[in-house]
Amino acid sequence: MKALKANRLINGNGNGVLEDAVVLVDGEKIVAVESANKLRIPPDAEVIDLGDRTLLPGLIDAHVHFSPEEAGHLYGRMFEPSQRKLIRATVDARNALAAGFTTMRDVGGRDAIYLRDAIAAGDIPGPRILASGLLITSTGGHEDPRYLTPDWVRQISHLSRVASGPDDCREAVREQYRLGADLIKIMSTGLGMLAQFTYKETEALIDEAHKLGMRVASHANGGPGLKDALKAGVDTIEHGTHLDEEDLAFMRAHNIFLCPTLAITEKLIGEGPKYGVAQYMVNAARDREDSRIQSFMKAYRSGVKITTGSDFGLRPFTRHGDNVLELVLMVKAGCAPMDAIVAATKNGAEALGLGDRLGQVQAGKVADLIATRGDPTDRIEDLYQVDFVMKTGAVFRQPASEDRHAGSSE
Ligand SMILES: [Zn+2]
Repeated sequence: MKALKANRLINGNGNGVLEDAVVLVDGEKIVAVESANKLRIPPDAEVIDLGDRTLLPGLIDAHVHFSPEEAGHLYGRMFEPSQRKLIRATVDARNALAAGFTTMRDVGGRDAIYLRDAIAAGDIPGPRILASGLLITSTGGHEDPRYLTPDWVRQISHLSRVASGPDDCREAVREQYRLGADLIKIMSTGLGMLAQFTYKETEALIDEAHKLGMRVASHANGGPGLKDALKAGVDTIEHGTHLDEEDLAFMRAHNIFLCPTLAITEKLIGEGPKYGVAQYMVNAARDREDSRIQSFMKAYRSGVKITTGSDFGLRPFTRHGDNVLELVLMVKAGCAPMDAIVAATKNGAEALGLGDRLGQVQAGKVADLIATRGDPTDRIEDLYQVDFVMKTGAVFRQPASEDRHAGSSE
């Protein structure tokens, strides 16, 4: 039994901050959460006094990739060996966990399946990963690398699976299932608003995934492709840069989550040019940024459930570690800090279908807990200072004891 003490606790459900909190952890689970004066700490418990810190649920990044390209590698997404990227991704996994991300949803890339399994087996440290396997796109669609002939793409792509027609769409889903995918990622639109699949194809993709017990995430900016995905029963909308009132009402009514992915655009604009990203792509990102933020704020204000997703993990300038940027940008756009935290905890867990196990500091939930100095409901940037991380009841990272003492109120 472990007893975690901290001056403040945010439980993930948005209901304020508990002062002088104690969390009891037995094995992999949380067994009690109370203020210190109401709870007797069992004498045999190992006490971890985090002092003047805020304790909160492990963060969830609901849109990542684990396939980081080497800087300057021309067409690295296709031609750099996936084995090399996978080894690089093990470093990203460790850094993400150290930064407080205990769960991540990979939405495209075959290798994340193996990374997930290595972490789950305890071979290497990292967040709990849910992986989609290859993302499914249309012929000539987003992430179908058109500089290769189609037969090459089929052979070497470790990011995308091109599918055409309802039957092949079902087959593409089954292939990911066979590979061990936890969910399915589909490309309903590209970077613009053109619908990439017919309604029948979209329906086949989502129906087959649901039949096999997998949720579906759709890359969809807006327009007919997004509407098809909503109507066919998609679970989460990724990006959603051009949501209209009809979309928002539908998402609210059917409990469909929006993952706005603000951080990737910010990084592309800020750091892309240094890494050789073409100016036209940077300009396009700048054009997208405003609509992305406006669409997110419209959804947030209208009551659509929001999750946080950095979309990090492909580019050399989006390596995992500072994924908190997504929460910082949400707050900068006008979201309340507490709501950004709920998006990255409770909502993230629900969007992944794990709301009964993760996302809240509550008796019965899995003990994924992090702590940071300061109070992120006051200053969201404080989440960059996470220095305590527990995943499934095991301490991965904690402040040195003298440091803990210095932070203590006693
Ligand atoms: Zn992505």
